[in-house]
Amino acid sequence: MSRSAHPAGPRHGDVLPEGHYTAPPADLNALDPKVWARTVERRQADGVLTVGGIDVRTLAAAHGTPAYVLDEDDFRARCRAWREAFGPGADVFYAGKAFLSRAVVRWLHEEGLNLDVCTGGELTTALAGGMPAGRIAMHGNNKSEAEIDRAVEAGVGRIVLDSFQEIARVARAARRHGVRQRVQVRVTVGVEAHTHEFIATAHEDQKFGLALADGTAAEAVRKVLAHGDSLELVGIHSHIGSQIFDMAGFEVSARRVVGLLSAVRDEHGVELPEIDLGGGLGIAYTSEDDPSEPHEIAKALGDIVARECEAAGLALPRLSVEPGRAIAGPTAFTLYEVGTVKPLDGLRTYVSVDGGMSDNIRTALYDAEYAVALASRASDAPPELVRVVGRHCESGDIVVRNAYLPADVVPGDLLAVPATGAYCRSMASNYNHTPRPPVIAVRDGEARVIVRRETEEDLLRLDVG
Ligand SMILES: *Cc1c(COP(=O)(O)O)cnc(C)c1O
Repeated sequence: MSRSAHPAGPRHGDVLPEGHYTAPPADLNALDPKVWARTVERRQADGVLTVGGIDVRTLAAAHGTPAYVLDEDDFRARCRAWREAFGPGADVFYAGKAFLSRAVVRWLHEEGLNLDVCTGGELTTALAGGMPAGRIAMHGNNKSEAEIDRAVEAGVGRIVLDSFQEIARVARAARRHGVRQRVQVRVTVGVEAHTHEFIATAHEDQKFGLALADGTAAEAVRKVLAHGDSLELVGIHSHIGSQIFDMAGFEVSARRVVGLLSAVRDEHGVELPEIDLGGGLGIAYTSEDDPSEPHEIAKALGDIVARECEAAGLALPRLSVEPGRAIAGPTAFTLYEVGTVKPLDGLRTYVSVDGGMSDNIRTALYDAEYAVALASRASDAPPELVRVVGRHCESGDIVVRNAYLPADVVPGDLLAVPATGAYCRSMASNYNHTPRPPVIAVRDGEARVIVRRETEEDLLRLDVG
């Protein structure tokens, strides 16, 4: 992240508040295609943002704010790009936890993707949306007996085993249903990758997976193979982190997973047919981020796996990947209405919107950075450094920590925060008894509610006291 001085200076005083800033963009009305969904444009005639040909003011009037606005064409195009990049010899599993609804499941199905779930709720949604069970993978470090039972009964394509206890539980469920359940063993490879860095030491210290380094993973493989009547071990799984830009972590991960494959062959005389390298590929939240394209990722991962397998004398296993954020993230923006504008002399200006940490917890939780644009009009006013905040009873309720907006932003203006398609609606809460916003899918000039807005009645319905 670059830290450059702010040439124009904030409007109220000369002293820069704490934090780091990039220079204001040359044109505040311009939309960086890296961070905006494919069909988002600023209309020449009146400067209003449109998506799928629809004016955001029309969306706000019809559906209210805040609202997540999702570009269906972009979502489908990203699915196809991943599918085509990996080709018929590999599988792309969309990680449902990023954002899931029945409409999303239908799009995934139609575009030829598979689906990862990690709870009974996600499994129910996947099945309700019509995803064939054989194309669903079940994850989780503490799946309940009931969830395992339902997954086995539904006939999910694979269950990813995460503990010794679970090996026995899944084996029991498979026997109960008289099936041989396909499973993978999730390993921790001693690599943790986040954003621009990866660390290759001691990251077995976490709740997921079974460690390769101390032989726990090899022991898990022994236990699974001992349940050969009820479990079919199809492969090894590794997921190393999230919002990753550097392929070096995947390289280490692939090398170590292939190492286990060759150890399994040497010890048991079986070559496991699949490896899954997980998800975690980064997206552009701001113009500073430079994510790779799916075809570059596919080429890099394919080359790494081929090289390692060749070195180990193994036949090429079927590769799978699990992008969540990289598919859903860039496809949506959150539309807010400005409620108050509060300039604090010599500090900064706070722009309050009608949502906040209940619809986007990522800024508070991970210090995530976002961009923001004035959506309901263009403006020629000079840039002003602002903080976009929500309406909740927490001073940490920040949507965009540092952003430039035109200095003439006033209550009633609409703001759009891009790249909120992943881990925003799916992590949304009812904090302060706030009904969660709807998800509006837009395509070819039509807007369709795919997840409706919660109402205060919905909230009261749960309150049975
Ligand atoms: C979260 C997760 C993913 C998806 O991660 P993204 O960063 O959204 O790509 C994939 N696989 C597993 C096992 C996960 O836990």
